[in-house]
Amino acid sequence: MSFPQSFCARHGSRVSRETEIKQLNLCDQCAQELITKAFNGNPPIKIGEEIQAQCQFCLEEKLVKPRSWQLCTICSRVVEGYGISKAGMKYLLKKLPRHQDIELKITDPVKPMSYKQHQKASRSKKVEPDLAGIYRKNDQRLFLIEIKTGPSAIQDMKEFQLDIGDCKHILRFFKRYKLPTYVFHIQVVKEQETIIPKDAWWVDVFEMHKYCKDIRIRPREYRAAAYYEPRMFRHISEFPVEPKFFLEKVKRVKQEVPRLIAIRDNPRVKG
Ligand SMILES: [Zn+2]
Ligand SMILES: [Zn+2]
Repeated sequence: MSFPQSFCARHGSRVSRETEIKQLNLCDQCAQELITKAFNGNPPIKIGEEIQAQCQFCLEEKLVKPRSWQLCTICSRVVEGYGISKAGMKYLLKKLPRHQDIELKITDPVKPMSYKQHQKASRSKKVEPDLAGIYRKNDQRLFLIEIKTGPSAIQDMKEFQLDIGDCKHILRFFKRYKLPTYVFHIQVVKEQETIIPKDAWWVDVFEMHKYCKDIRIRPREYRAAAYYEPRMFRHISEFPVEPKFFLEKVKRVKQEVPRLIAIRDNPRVKG
């Protein structure tokens, strides 16, 4: 399928891809940040009346204006994801059970970028997980966390989908740090234009390959994804808290690399 060329503010050029009008409620400060950092200086094509609502970038309840940009579908999804990712991180910082000697730190904050800058940044070798648990006694990292967000609760999912690009990202930072690593699914919903995190679940990356059912191309997109049984996840309230648990695990994970995708030797998968 081919589309007539149309303008995408985040690409900063015309693209041979479907575009749409993306509207976001933003405070003045966040609007300016997105214009400068993500939209190549392009102002919104439409600005609505000022209202009291959640800013969909800083997530604060304040005076915002609905502002619209023309974006390709890829950039639209990326921009939509900024506030959702921030909401997920904030939720974990607040809700993750942890020992007083463990501090949770954001190691890969949400940084709005243009399409070109993002392409460049994703080729960088310095990959970071979203969050790290730091042991206060020696200021060393104890464990790493990668966050995925979505509108569904784990118990309502038929399968959990993880892009192959995300799998590669996890393996890259795992090899860099060699520490216990966990993937979190955070349920984040949008109710009347308000982004609300609801609940969270986690899985140890060394467990994931046992639950990998399939690898497919995502519908309507051209990206491959791995599909997992949702029962691999455990609730956030069951996350290990003792520093000792992680200190012992650190020694073990030094010798291994998680497989993440291993459908060929999974006895539950036919063929
Ligand atoms: Zn804001
Ligand atoms: Zn674009």
